[in-house]
Amino acid sequence: MKSRHSHTERVLEMIEPLEHSFTGGRFRAIAKCECGREITWSANSMPAPDVILTKVRKRARGWDIDTKRKTVICHECIEALAETIAEEKAEELAEKVLAEIRQEPEQPPAPVAPVAPEPAPIIEEVEIEEEVIMPETVEKSAAARQAKRMVYALLEEGYDDKKKCYRTGWSDDKIADETGASVQLVAQVREEDFGPLGKPEELRNLEAQIASIADEASRLAGSTLAALSAMEAKIKKLQDEVSLYGRKYPK
Ligand SMILES: [Zn+2]
Repeated sequence: MKSRHSHTERVLEMIEPLEHSFTGGRFRAIAKCECGREITWSANSMPAPDVILTKVRKRARGWDIDTKRKTVICHECIEALAETIAEEKAEELAEKVLAEIRQEPEQPPAPVAPVAPEPAPIIEEVEIEEEVIMPETVEKSAAARQAKRMVYALLEEGYDDKKKCYRTGWSDDKIADETGASVQLVAQVREEDFGPLGKPEELRNLEAQIASIADEASRLAGSTLAALSAMEAKIKKLQDEVSLYGRKYPK
């Protein structure tokens, strides 16, 4: 009795962390996880400890029954633990990376050294480009403003604001020539601030003269034609009178 009891105790000690029951002559080994899940294996007698462990482990596939650490953990809890560990490791890694990123500006000696000279020439290049571009632009715009002012002054002089046309001798081309501005710029300034190209007075005078002469010619042509017609009619009438004399007289 005593030896058997000690045998049972020994077995139970060996199958720890499994729980057990021995009721109605039936032995039950129970693997119980902290989460509440449990798996029971039973036998009509008490088997050897390794048999119990093998049978229970076979039934509780995926569980971890650790006799050294005296722990039982079900497969669900193993998965959850694995996930937690993975998450913790991921977080750890993320924190590590973040810490490295945050520390980067504080550690300029070795790793920043090769990085630092790189942006420097880029900035210099940009500065050089700006230096090259800026004065050109400034010069251009200054020259453009100067030319525009000159165009304006000459338009004041050459454009007849009342008649809305150039005065005699003036034109977009003349102002462009004198100022060095483009004809387009002169035309643009004139259109915007003065008026349409119109027709210069001299051209209008010439056109008026041509029109006048053409009118005269037309009038003359008309009256000449009428005179000719009248002459022809008179000749016809006289010839009719001549014909009355017949052909008896030699020519
Ligand atoms: Zn569990």
